[in-house]
Amino acid sequence: MPPSTLADLHRQIEQCTACDLGRTRIRVVPGTGSSTAKVFFIGEAPGKKEDATGLPFVGAAGRVLDEMLATINLSRADVFITSVLKCRPPENRDPRPEEIAACLPFLAQQVKIIRPKLIVTLGRFALQLFQPEAIIGACHGRLFTDNDYPILPVYHPAAAIYNRKLREPLARDFAIIRDFI
Ligand code: URA
Repeated sequence: MPPSTLADLHRQIEQCTACDLGRTRIRVVPGTGSSTAKVFFIGEAPGKKEDATGLPFVGAAGRVLDEMLATINLSRADVFITSVLKCRPPENRDPRPEEIAACLPFLAQQVKIIRPKLIVTLGRFALQLFQPEAIIGACHGRLFTDNDYPILPVYHPAAAIYNRKLREPLARDFAIIRDFI
């Protein structure tokens, strides 16, 4: 039977050896936040700090995410934050298709348990779970629906570290979250 609580699901994720990342990770990073969150964020994959702590978005990208949440009066406790992959790819390389496929059932279970009002994809890997051909630069800030869930694609917060010009569109897209909920 599929787990019915996040705690049970996350215990299951901790045991996962479905792809090779199970051999190189230090910690799994299942996700954190409210089990009744209205907004469900999906990032790309854990990095070095996340791998060390087991918590999502604890590095520089996390600071940008916190900043953006603050602009719409939300904190991490109000939302749920996870990533496409629950384990760190070595050297932070891009997630591989077989890793994404192996991890996807966990994400689907998380959505099923939390039943958010809105899913926000951070960056292209999360967006392409729903729209494989979509280009983030062309469709960020445009809501679409998948399986009755409204999805809002936005830039990945890490992109706004290296390219400060992306902060403005990112903040504008976060304002859509505020208006939506
Ligand atoms: N970037 C992500 O996409 N996820 C994390 O957990 C950390 C950084």
